[in-house]
Amino acid sequence: MKNHKRAWATVNLSKLEKNINTIKQQISPSTGIMAVVKADAYGHGEKEVLRKLESIGIKYFAVSNLDEAISVRNICPDGDILILGYTPPEYADELIQHNIIQCIVSEEYASELNKNAVSPVRCHIKLDTGMGRIGLKYSKVSDCCDSVERIAALPTLSVEGLFTHFSVADSDDAENIEYTKKQADFIKSVYHTLEKRGTKLLHMHFLNSAGTGYHYDSESTLARIGITMYGLYPNYALPLPCAVEPVMEFKAVISNVKTAVKGDFISYGRTYEATEPVKIATATVGYADGYSRLLSSKGQVLIKGKRCRIVGRICMDQMMIDVTDVDVKAGDIVTLIGKDGDDVITADELASWYGTIGYEVVCGISKRVPRIYI
Ligand SMILES: *Cc1c(COP(=O)(O)O)cnc(C)c1O
Repeated sequence: MKNHKRAWATVNLSKLEKNINTIKQQISPSTGIMAVVKADAYGHGEKEVLRKLESIGIKYFAVSNLDEAISVRNICPDGDILILGYTPPEYADELIQHNIIQCIVSEEYASELNKNAVSPVRCHIKLDTGMGRIGLKYSKVSDCCDSVERIAALPTLSVEGLFTHFSVADSDDAENIEYTKKQADFIKSVYHTLEKRGTKLLHMHFLNSAGTGYHYDSESTLARIGITMYGLYPNYALPLPCAVEPVMEFKAVISNVKTAVKGDFISYGRTYEATEPVKIATATVGYADGYSRLLSSKGQVLIKGKRCRIVGRICMDQMMIDVTDVDVKAGDIVTLIGKDGDDVITADELASWYGTIGYEVVCGISKRVPRIYI
């Protein structure tokens, strides 16, 4: 891949493998890993991530929509691919043709999909047990089972599983822990009741990264692992039982170094004014690369192992940094996310500076930034 050393991201695939192995050690062999590779593998690059995952024996993949599913299918001719969200029912043919498993978001949706399908569409039925997003929503287990049975009886749907999604599995608050337990209890009850009533489904899954880390339950046949596989934490403030390491780093270079004297302004809007002589470096990265403008005068970067502050507004393609205490020159590397010397800035830490989560930071690193695979 072309890399003109402006702004780039490195993706360390052996760390990805290590993270998967760490997660595997924590779960029982009865739980398969379903690698969540939506949004271009959380910004890491779907193709290379999938090749690695396939090479280490991962067989289940989850994506957000049909386009992503087809793209994954073109890379992985075998594995099971589950679409976690909505696909318009008129695309039933594409689901069949590419052997994709569709999430059933409601009973009405199941009936529409059934009408549009000429041969059985593989599907997993989603239950809304407390997330409030998609899925069958029932307060009584028996009513929920009735609905699942009606869906399972539709001739052109092949129901292979049941799943739900936790909303607060990343919290250590007692009420939230109780809430998560209720979500798990509900789906387990539905699954076991269905079995007693004669419908045995191959899969029941309710674990995301946080669920797997903090509420592991071997009854979940799959663990839908996203963020921890990429080495970030579901909740930055809460350590995981198994330590994972960030897979991606984000770098740029210094293009220009100058001294600003008292009264000089830096960047758009003149929001930064030097009150004493400061050494200012310009870096070759900006918000069009996915480094949020909300980090203006707030973000920090590493240069030669030292923390430096961003000064003034972040521009589309460039930003300025106070390097008064660092010996720098044009061409030196600026680490936005990653390790430099003894210090490290994680996507999670960067996210905490402007009120978001590591997920949004890594997904947001733009297409313009080449991914370099290690
Ligand atoms: C995105 C997603 C996941 C993965 O979540 P992580 O917190 O990244 O592990 C799992 N399940 C569903 C339904 C999702 O939408």
